[in-house]
Formats: sequence, structure tokens, C-alpha cells
Amino acid sequence: MHDFAYLRPRDAAEAVALHARHRPGARYFAGGTTLFDLMKLGVESPTTVIDVTRIEGMHSIDASRRDELHIGALAVMSDVAEHATVQREFPALAESLWKAASQQLRNMATVGGNLLQRTRCAYFRGAPEFACNKRVPGSGCAALEGQNRGHAVLGGSEACVAIYPGDMAIALAAFDAMVDTVSPRGERAVPVRELHRAPASTPHLETVLADDELIVRIRVPRGPVGRASTYHKIRDRESYAFALASAAVAVHLQGHRVVDARIALGGVATRPWRAIEAERSLVGLPLTRAAARRAAELAFQGARPLAHNAFKVALGIETVTDALMLAKERS
Ligand SMILES: Cc1cc2nc3c(=O)[nH]c(=O)nc-3n(C[C@H](O)[C@H](O)[C@H](O)COP(=O)(O)OP(=O)(O)OC[C@H]3O[C@@H](n4cnc5c(N)ncnc54)[C@H](O)[C@@H]3O)c2cc1C
Repeated sequence: MHDFAYLRPRDAAEAVALHARHRPGARYFAGGTTLFDLMKLGVESPTTVIDVTRIEGMHSIDASRRDELHIGALAVMSDVAEHATVQREFPALAESLWKAASQQLRNMATVGGNLLQRTRCAYFRGAPEFACNKRVPGSGCAALEGQNRGHAVLGGSEACVAIYPGDMAIALAAFDAMVDTVSPRGERAVPVRELHRAPASTPHLETVLADDELIVRIRVPRGPVGRASTYHKIRDRESYAFALASAAVAVHLQGHRVVDARIALGGVATRPWRAIEAERSLVGLPLTRAAARRAAELAFQGARPLAHNAFKVALGIETVTDALMLAKERS
């Protein structure tokens, strides 16, 4: 057991001030379902845990604005999944949440923490004898030549092929959502699509956020493209498992033709992955299964499979194709 200080700020300004004072060993704690897990595994050893759960104004879901849905970073996954506006206007977002983890976890885990969950790569979470550039920069990557069935076919590097495991960020990336943050340097807004970094040569740097930056809310633009959407998640078992391949897909049709399409991939890439070229290929066309399949193939054009995960390319193409057909049924 490593000793750590436990602090409970009353508001966001106090939280970021405390974090800045206790750097570099400070960590925010929300639901704790990632942080405590990693502390028990010895992957994280914070010297100060800053419990942000009592901060007021960060738990609510606000659907009163015409242009955006606001979701407080401390809203728990189950509340967001069950919210009437989320279910009606952003079915892919609701599905990405209720297809994640278990009911107990969803009742505890917050959406802010969900965005920042860390990879499930067994070498990252495993014993220190396994090389992992994310855990110990410069130590190597055991997954490249090891058990890599669950790893990325998109966005990997010579230093890391671990996937980003979350579901919700995939749906948020498809909807062009933003996160609002606060830090001692002020407030800023970051597109979810740009929140997570590709591993390149620095896989230990996972997001563009500074370690003391607190996510206060998520903003999701409202519009015609959200309603005809779905989150299609394929996994080894039907419940309580991470994605082998997933797709958050949204379409806006006028008549039979596509005027806007969104395709984001999960379970196959090192970060939430928007397939922009695939989306563009659909615009102006009737949404047939053949057009959907062509788009899905484009989404995986740059895939670089490893020894044990080539199946993810074929699986991913089927997943995106089926997701587009499911979204079409909702238009
Ligand atoms: C057994 C199991 C199965 C799971 N299955 C799935 C699944 O299928 N799909 C899926 O998507 N997820 C899954 N998860 C992950 C789960 O959804 C995340 O652990 C959870 O959402 C994290 O939220 P939290 O509030 O518990 O975060 P915490 O553990 O409290 O925090 C996580 C990280 O985020 C930081 N943090 C938290 N809140 C903020 C904030 N507001 N601003 C800045 N930093 C912050 C913390 O410092 C920490 O680094 C699973 C988890 C477990 C344990």
C-alpha cells in the first residue's frame, strides 16, 4: 500500500489550484473505476488523490439550449444513457454508454473519467517484466511481437499498438462534441476528435490535456445528423466486454440521398478514429448496402494488421456496413 493524501475541494477553482500545488503526483478522482483499478495494479501511484465528486454544477445534463446538449463531467454513465434527450436525439451516444461495462460500473463511473480511461492492453496493465512504452517510456512494446489479438490495426506505431478502449468517445467524436476544461491557466474548449493523441514515439502522452486540467463538461451539437445514428459494438461476448470492433455512425438523408454522414471507429485504433474519407464517399448517393460497404472498406484502407489481429479488418468492415444500414432504418 502506497500512502497518498486525499483532498476534497468544494469547487473547480479549488480543485485545479490543489492539483497545481501537488504536481506531479496528483490525480483527480471521480468514480474511481479506472484510477483505483490502476492503483491496485501498480500502474498508477499518485501521491495526492483529489476527489472532485462534491463539486457542484458538474453533475447535470442540460438540454435547455437549442444548439447544444451540455453534459456535466461528473454525470454518471447510466444517467446520461437514460436521459430522454440523449435517447431521442443521439441514440448512438445512449447506446455507446449502455453497451459499456456493467450496470454497477455505469452507476458509479462519470463521463469525464470515461473519456480519460486508459488502455486495457495486458502488457500495460501486467507485471513490470513486460515492456511497455506507455508505462515506462523507452522500455519497448511487448505487444508488437506478443499477444496482439486485441490491438490496433489503425494508428499504431513502432512504440505502441494499444487500442483506446472506450465506447462513449467514439460516439462523441462522430457528433463533433467538445470538452470544456479549466486549469490554473484558464478555460479552454477541445474537440473530442483532438483530445486523444496518436502514440507515435510518445505513447505515454495519451491526450492533449495537461495533467492539472479538469474537464468540466461535454458539449454535443444538436442537429439533424444525430437522430439517425447507432453505436454498433462487436465483442467476444454480448455483455460486459470491451469492443473488438465498433462503429458510431450517423446519417442525414434527404429523399434517398445522403447529405451528411458520420463514421467513427472503436476497438480497432489507438485513438477514437473518424473515417472522414469514408463519410465523404457517401454524400450525394443513395444509402445502399453496396455504398455502405464501399465506405466501410475506405475506412480500413490504411489498416496495418499485426500477427494475431488481421481478422479485425474484415470484422471492422462488416461492423461499419451493418451500422450504416441500422442508422438508415432510423432516418
Ligand atoms: C471491469 C470494467 C469493464 C469496463 N468496460 C468498459 C466498456 O465496455 N466500455 C467502456 O467504455 N468503458 C469500460 N470500462 C471503463 C469505465 O467506463 C471507466 O473506468 C469509467 O468510465 C471511468 O470513469 P470514473 O469516473 O470511474 O473515472 P476515474 O477512475 O475516477 O478517473 C479516470 C481518469 O480520469 C481522470 N479524471 C476523472 N475525472 C476527470 C475530470 N473531470 N477531469 C480531468 N480528469 C478526470 C482521473 O484522474 C483518472 O486519470 C470498464 C471498466 C471496468 C473496471
